[in-house]
Parts: sequence; structure tokens; C-alpha cells
Amino acid sequence: MVRAGRRWMLGALALVLAAGLCAWLARGPIAEAIMARAYDRALGPDRIAALPDGLTVALCGSGSPLPDPTRAGPCAAVVAGGRLFVVDVGPGSVKNLQLMRLPPAKVAGLLITHFHSDHIAEVGELMLQHWGGGAATAPLPVYGPSGVEVVVAGFQQAYGQDRDYRIAHHGPKVMPPSGFGATVHPFAISRSGPDVTVIDDGGLKVIAFPVDHGPVRPAVGYLFIYKGRRAVISGDTSASPRVEAEAGGADLLVHEALAPNLVAKQREAALRHGRANAAAILHDILSYHTTPEQAAGIAARAHVRMLLFTHVIPPLPFSALDGPYLGRSRQIFSGTVQVGRDGDFVTLPARGRDIRRGNLLRGVL
Ligand SMILES: [Zn+2]
Ligand SMILES: [Zn+2]
Repeated sequence: MVRAGRRWMLGALALVLAAGLCAWLARGPIAEAIMARAYDRALGPDRIAALPDGLTVALCGSGSPLPDPTRAGPCAAVVAGGRLFVVDVGPGSVKNLQLMRLPPAKVAGLLITHFHSDHIAEVGELMLQHWGGGAATAPLPVYGPSGVEVVVAGFQQAYGQDRDYRIAHHGPKVMPPSGFGATVHPFAISRSGPDVTVIDDGGLKVIAFPVDHGPVRPAVGYLFIYKGRRAVISGDTSASPRVEAEAGGADLLVHEALAPNLVAKQREAALRHGRANAAAILHDILSYHTTPEQAAGIAARAHVRMLLFTHVIPPLPFSALDGPYLGRSRQIFSGTVQVGRDGDFVTLPARGRDIRRGNLLRGVL
């Protein structure tokens, strides 16, 4: 009996080893087959039409200027009634949009919160992909507080030579010259002035409001209202009563946050290694960001239903750091709390109270 059992086990082991060896020998063709399926998905229908009518907010970048291998720079995609908008375009975010199957060619408008480099770094890339990805005949609309026209003009100039190469190489049918670049829609907004309605059509309202990111002025956040659902994107700000007011009764608050307890450890390391400049910057950034616990307080007082953290500082390369980052946030705010990761999305179906969540980057391959 014992000998038969052992023989059976040895046979099974030999089979497993043989199967493993076959898979290893065929790894090239297997990898090619997986890639072919991934290409098929990537170049197939986008996600926009598959979303329910309502508001969807997806993080095309949940990071900050500090390098994080798992997070692109700040970027939020908002789909409302089948139209795609993007708030800020940090480094790496345009590739994320493509991987999330939210095609840059379909972006109906880019909204900028302020002109720190981490929020505007890929204006040029988004312009280019909007143009080349769909043979656009009209430029990308870009909305932002006064000064956005300077930013956009600079990117257009920087990309001017590339524009000429692409038209020469692919021809004007593939790269229609009229579709290059962006049209700017600057708006004036003062530090404690009234809201500015930036978009109001097709049942969608996008409202800009001033936030506290001094000395960076102007700096705004955006409120999206569509078919009874409300989502607020804070932009970069210290704890702001204005964000709290705008978020009153919103379904979703997407808030930036910096955890001082973790940044302090970075700063100590910088000082230990004589990097005084890095240490000074890590001290200065505390003044114009919000802590997770402060954001949780804002969410609680505004009675929002979900708080999604983005612009996560410092980098959190593994999820066990979520607890130290959040501190007491989950005690302060009893609604849903999530530390944002690239690809995370929240869908608010029209006229309901439902909140659906997932990640658009999971299972890309
Ligand atoms: Zn900033
Ligand atoms: Zn920033």
C-alpha cells in the first residue's frame, strides 16, 4: 500500500515537472499569446461607453513630485454622461490613461488646478495624444485659472518641431494640422472670491473654487455635478474651509494629503546624509498641504459619503503603510475611506446613491 502510494506521488511529481518544463520551453509563444490578447483589449473598444450613465472619477495619477514606483503624478479622469475630462496631468499620467482605456483622443477638456510642475508636466503629451490618437481636427480644450495661457503657449512652442515631423511623416489625413495643440479657456478667480462655472452643458456643471496653496496663486479645486451626483477634487491645498463648503453633501471627495509623521522620517534621513536642501524642502511642504486626518475632518463635517486620498505624500510603495498614513482618519470620518492608487475608480450612477469601486489598471496584462 505504502509503496503504491509513493509510486503514485512520484508519478504525479514527474508529471508536474514535465508540464513545467514544457511551459518553460514554450514560454516565448505563451508570452506572445498573452500579449496578443492584451493588444486586442488595448486596441478594442474603450471603457467610456461601458460605464453606466452618471459620474465616474478614476485616478490616472495618485502620486506627487516625490518618486513613487507605483504612482504617476497627479491626474484625475472624470467621465460624465459619456464625456471624458481630465483634471491635471502629472508625469506618467498620459500612459496611465491609455492603459486604463480612457483614450486621450476622447478627452473633451483638460482642467488645470494650478501651475506646479507636477500638475502640468504632461500637457504637451496629452495635446499630442489627443491629436494623433484620433486624427483630431480641433485642438484640445484646456481650462484653468489665469496664467494657463502662458503654460499652454510654452508647450505648443516646445512641441512645434515635433508637430512638423509628424505631419510630414504620416500626412495631413492622419495628423490634420488643424488638430494640433490646445485652445485655452482661462478664467479669473480670486483668493476668497466667488466660484466660477467653467462648463455648463449637457447636464454637466463643472465649478472652480479657490483653495489655499499659498504662495501658489491662483490655485483651485473643481466640483462636478451631473444628474444628482456630486464629486469634488480638492487640488493642492492646506486644510481649506472652502473645500469643506463645496463638498457639502457630495458623494465623493477626492482630497490630497501629506502625512507629516512619515515625511518627518524622510527628513531625518535627509539630515543624516547632509542633504540640507532636501530637508528644507521636506519641511516647507508641510505648510501648503492637508494631513489625512484634517481631510477626514473635512469629509466628516461636509457629510460626504466617500473620501478618496490622492496626491499621496510621501510615497507608499506597499499597502501596509496605509495605516500609518491614515493615522486616525477612519475614526474621524465614518464613511468609506480609500488611499488612492493609480487606476482606482469610483462610479456614481445617475440619480442614485450607489457607489461602485474598482481599478482600471488591474489585469492590464
Ligand atoms: Zn502644488
Ligand atoms: Zn502637487
